[in-house]
Amino acid sequence: MRVKCPHCRYYGAVRDSEEISEITGMAIYRCGNDDCGHVYEVGFEVVATISPSAMPNPTVRLPIRKRLCNCQRPPRQTKKAKN
Ligand SMILES: [Zn+2]
Repeated sequence: MRVKCPHCRYYGAVRDSEEISEITGMAIYRCGNDDCGHVYEVGFEVVATISPSAMPNPTVRLPIRKRLCNCQRPPRQTKKAKN
C-alpha cells in the first residue's frame, strides 16, 4: 500500500509490518525523501468486500460494497455516426 509522508508528500516505503487481526494491521514507513527522513506508523483495515472469497473465513464479516467511484473506469463512450 502506497502511503505518502504527511509532511513532505513523498511516498514512503514499508520498513516493518504487523498483523493485528484478520482485518487490521500496522506498518512502519520511512519517507522516500532523504531530506525529510520522517518515519511514521500507519494503521490499515479491510473495510469491505468488493468480490466475495471462494474460501470464506466464517469469523470475518465484512459489508459488501461496490467499488468506489474513482476506482472504476469511466463509461465507454461510443462515437456518434456523422450524418
Ligand atoms: Zn517526508
